[in-house]
Amino acid sequence: MKIIESLNNKNYINGEWVSFASTLEVDNPSTGEIIGSICDLDKENILRAINSTADNFASWSGVDLDKRVQILRNWHQLIIKHAEDIANIIVLEQGKVITDARNEVIYGASFIEWFCNVVYTVTGSVLDDKGKNQKLITQYEPVGSVAAITPWNFPCAMITRKITPALICGCSVVLKPSEFTPFTALFLTKLLEEAGLPGGVLNVITGEADLIGKEVCNDFRIRKISFTGSTRVGKILYQNSANSLKRLSLELGGNAPFIIFADSDLEKAANDLIISKTRGNGQSCTSANRVFIEAAIYDKFTQLLSSKFSSIVIGDCFDKASQLGSLINNAGAQKIDGLIEDAKARGAKILCGGSAKKNLFSPTVIIDCSDEMELFQTEIFGPVAACYKFSTLEEVIKKANDTEYGLQAYVYSQDLAKAQEVASKLDFGMVSINNPLSSNAKAAFSGRKASGFGIEGALAGLFEYLNTKYINIPIK
Ligand code: ADP
Repeated sequence: MKIIESLNNKNYINGEWVSFASTLEVDNPSTGEIIGSICDLDKENILRAINSTADNFASWSGVDLDKRVQILRNWHQLIIKHAEDIANIIVLEQGKVITDARNEVIYGASFIEWFCNVVYTVTGSVLDDKGKNQKLITQYEPVGSVAAITPWNFPCAMITRKITPALICGCSVVLKPSEFTPFTALFLTKLLEEAGLPGGVLNVITGEADLIGKEVCNDFRIRKISFTGSTRVGKILYQNSANSLKRLSLELGGNAPFIIFADSDLEKAANDLIISKTRGNGQSCTSANRVFIEAAIYDKFTQLLSSKFSSIVIGDCFDKASQLGSLINNAGAQKIDGLIEDAKARGAKILCGGSAKKNLFSPTVIIDCSDEMELFQTEIFGPVAACYKFSTLEEVIKKANDTEYGLQAYVYSQDLAKAQEVASKLDFGMVSINNPLSSNAKAAFSGRKASGFGIEGALAGLFEYLNTKYINIPIK
């Protein structure tokens, strides 16, 4: 693909597209074909990117808000104009199917539009304390230079969701996209440059994740890190940021319960579960991980699910009829294999699927799962519906909450009062009732416990990039 060729072995540092001798290969997970390579940056050049980010903060935060918003609106337009190009890059480097990739681009762009609109509602306050003859001013200021570290499962949306609020608030950014999906990031950067972003305000670097992570964590001038990825890496960044006392947003792993009560619309619940388990090929931190089914409908529902999972269309990722693509790499497939073997050894049964062919994992329904199995506590990250039986509302709430994670949960019932009662008792940052795709730029995306902290999207997503200042002035 021409766009990928033009971005091959490129980083964007201080407003220039630069290349380096040392590179890492990037493959297409569906075919194994090498699609290009990225720079493997050394310490000196990582520092150059951090210097540029820090040096350009003052000028960018001084740019009029209308101007900043205009540049981001231009970016939004360019993303829409090039939506098909971006979707194609996502398919090639990430392995998801084209329809899914197109949806991601629209979802990604929605963050830009939202933050451009909502930023004008961020106002400070002025209060007169006449008793003390003082004026009390509260105002908001950008946190400073920010590092964004993004994952491979949403190569476009995780970037727009972080970069937009940061830039709109006046922060400069150094971005490290996943080594598996760098070309979406680099192309989005090209478009942002075309949209009018001054050089050096956004630096985009690739290379050894450990090294880049350490450099940004240790650098006092980087005042915040926004990270989406594994809980393991989130903890490393948290620890390594202690010395420089940075602000952090950590959007980490999940272990989503998908609770189906007997009074649900079963057809819809089964179809929605397919959506949840095929979006990003099940490799999403909000994907259903534990399917809890009320005993009265357990057999009927799992049979229905199995027949639907068996008809999921697997084909060329560029064919719009295809529903499921490939996992990001073979390690992902092997991990799932291991979880399934463990579950089978402990009494679970496979209704359909259950095997990997290279990076492709067959849509799998596994029943008679229990909380002693590894997959009860592990993010599966693949198209596997692990089914558990429950009898009472209290029991399912307890089981659903029995995890260190706390990101997304789902409740299915036609009794909305009951569903809402369950939702309020679930120890998760987000609960979706009868809806498998509730992520929305206008709403707060947030986790708790081992799923991390910080909010993305919503108005609160802007405050992640703002410091609050209080000024006290004497009055006569
Ligand atoms: P996953 O396990 O889903 O691949 P990771 O947490 O490993 O998620 O990756 C998410 C992002 O974090 C990627 O950009 C990856 O390169 C980066 N990353 C991985 N290890 C580190 C690290 N030690 N320090 C900083 N970033 C890291």
